[in-house]
Amino acid sequence: MTEWNCKSKYNSFNSYKGLTYYEHYKKIVAWLDGKGQLPAPIEASLDPISHCNQKCYYCNSQRYLRKNNIGIQSWDKDFIGDTLSNLAEMGCKAFCWGGGGEALLNNNVLGMTEYGVGLGMECSIITNGVYLHKFDDIGLCRWIGISLDSAVPEVYEKIRGTNDCLNVLYNIENLVKSGSKADICVKVLILPENIDTIVYTCRVARDIGVTDFHLRPVDLCRKDYKGCRKIKLDRKKIEEIFTDCHKMETNDFHVYTVTHKYNEDFSTKQDFDKCLASPLVTQICTDKKIYACVDHRLEQRFEVHNWGSEKHRQMIKSILPIRECSKCTWCEYNKQVEDVVIKDRMCVNFP
Ligand code: SF4
Ligand code: SF4
Repeated sequence: MTEWNCKSKYNSFNSYKGLTYYEHYKKIVAWLDGKGQLPAPIEASLDPISHCNQKCYYCNSQRYLRKNNIGIQSWDKDFIGDTLSNLAEMGCKAFCWGGGGEALLNNNVLGMTEYGVGLGMECSIITNGVYLHKFDDIGLCRWIGISLDSAVPEVYEKIRGTNDCLNVLYNIENLVKSGSKADICVKVLILPENIDTIVYTCRVARDIGVTDFHLRPVDLCRKDYKGCRKIKLDRKKIEEIFTDCHKMETNDFHVYTVTHKYNEDFSTKQDFDKCLASPLVTQICTDKKIYACVDHRLEQRFEVHNWGSEKHRQMIKSILPIRECSKCTWCEYNKQVEDVVIKDRMCVNFP
């Protein structure tokens, strides 16, 4: 797994990054214990629109687009500006244009990356890449993640429900040529439909000049996914694909086959007992409300009414991950707080 190997182990996808938040973790633990204030989140994940131009069957914004279908809502420019100003003022270091659908369908996002960066924060985006060309200031992002799944148009259409494949590749290529300093990452979920095209997709990503290729198994056991099911993936075949993709790596092109969040059978791992790390990031949804984390968007039970309030503390403390959370984006960070901060398993006072 490249994210752990010795040449490039210090990278954005290495979950040991969480240990750099050690002081922040300590403050969260103290706050949960009723001592001190909850610090500002390090990052804000922003969902500026509840709409998408694609129809990926595994969609991780199902809560918006299918399950609760809140209709098309989108943030106006004033709300975006106020939100970014408030975040900067409270000490948040970065924001990410996330989901709710496809952030770049909201034209009010135009210019707001530059605005937020001007306030001293860093920005990133996760996008399907179809409208990248319309947003000049996206190049100011620290990183840009583009969900592609396959560089073969027919396979792309089968998974994502549109014929945008070649347009997206063209947009990525132009972004690379624009000289943006962003880390540009092509993202692929391993699915039965694309498994035979992954190595080809990796080669295409390398040839158009992106920095990173990110590959991980899909999670179809999520509680928000209507067709919730476990898919059987051929482990041996996937390992061969990983090997072939890793062979394409250069100093400028990295392959991340993220598997440490998964069990041997590629089901999602859950080896922690409490929700301890979620206040690292604030999740602001299209309904303009804040939620505990990206995995519980739009769930009333997980709404944060006032950052750092008693109600916030009690809500976080009452979460039972084993019962309430099928997949946890912050699983590794929860484990770190438990083992490193609370139990001091690393004897941190002895460098
Ligand atoms: S591009 Fe993203 S939000 Fe849109 S359907 Fe696909 S997974 Fe869902
Ligand atoms: S999925 Fe559950 S445990 Fe993980 S951050 Fe969200 S609420 Fe906490």
